[in-house]
Amino acid sequence: SVHIRDVKKYFGALCVLDGVSINVEPSEVVAVIGRSGSGKSTMLRCINGLERIQQGRIEVAGHTITPEAGDLRSLRKEVGIVFQSYNLFPHLTVLENITLAPRVVKRIGRDEADEIGREALRRVGLEEKSGAYADELSGGQQQRVAIARSMAMKPKVMLFDEVTSALDPELTGEVLKTMEELAEAGMTMILVTHEMGFARQVANKTVFMHLGKVWEEGPSAELFGAPRTPELQNFVSSSL
Ligand code: ATP
Ligand code: MG
Repeated sequence: SVHIRDVKKYFGALCVLDGVSINVEPSEVVAVIGRSGSGKSTMLRCINGLERIQQGRIEVAGHTITPEAGDLRSLRKEVGIVFQSYNLFPHLTVLENITLAPRVVKRIGRDEADEIGREALRRVGLEEKSGAYADELSGGQQQRVAIARSMAMKPKVMLFDEVTSALDPELTGEVLKTMEELAEAGMTMILVTHEMGFARQVANKTVFMHLGKVWEEGPSAELFGAPRTPELQNFVSSSL
């Protein structure tokens, strides 16, 4: 689970997260939507310990993040994050890309790591590509490998930051399907997305961020079906 309590995050004088509180229960899928600059990516980065917070606390996968920090190294093993740019190593095979972190960070032996890697690849439907080099894959396949790479660390929570935004429309569907299957398998997920249909369909709950605040939140069907604030109404109608 993820419990975010009254978190503030500043970049210099700029308050980017202004008292954000969000709860994500185990196996829950929460979508985060909002305009560019509203603080969505920053919030994910704070949950993963990639950015420090200046106020509040975040409880995630049994760890607590406070302004005084905490054990971020062990936190990052348990909270996977997948970005828009997948950054696979082009000179490594698909399987090598996936097994690198389990082997180096978790010190798992090659055979066991390969086993875990193949299982992760199977879950994203790319078992047959294990020996291919990353640059021999399509963008959608590369993004699915990036998801498998994150899953191979067996995270308790997965964070996704606009993972389909860089993809051609015809490749978006296969990545969304991979995420939907992860959700169905019970993974706890927070996903920042521009795919409103996907958020509405797959996320139990949707959070609308505006000016660094949780402006509106609720069950996805309610939030999209009957937005209460003019800001969300405008956002939803401009995203159609
Ligand atoms: P988008 O939809 O464009 O990805 P976002 O909601 O993810 O936007 P963030 O990337 O979280 O927005 O940025 C929120 C605010 O914080 C923006 O005003 C941005 O300029 C600022 N910001 C983000 N990262 C930094 C940084 N490293 N240093 C200074 N300001 C930053
Ligand atoms: Mg962003």
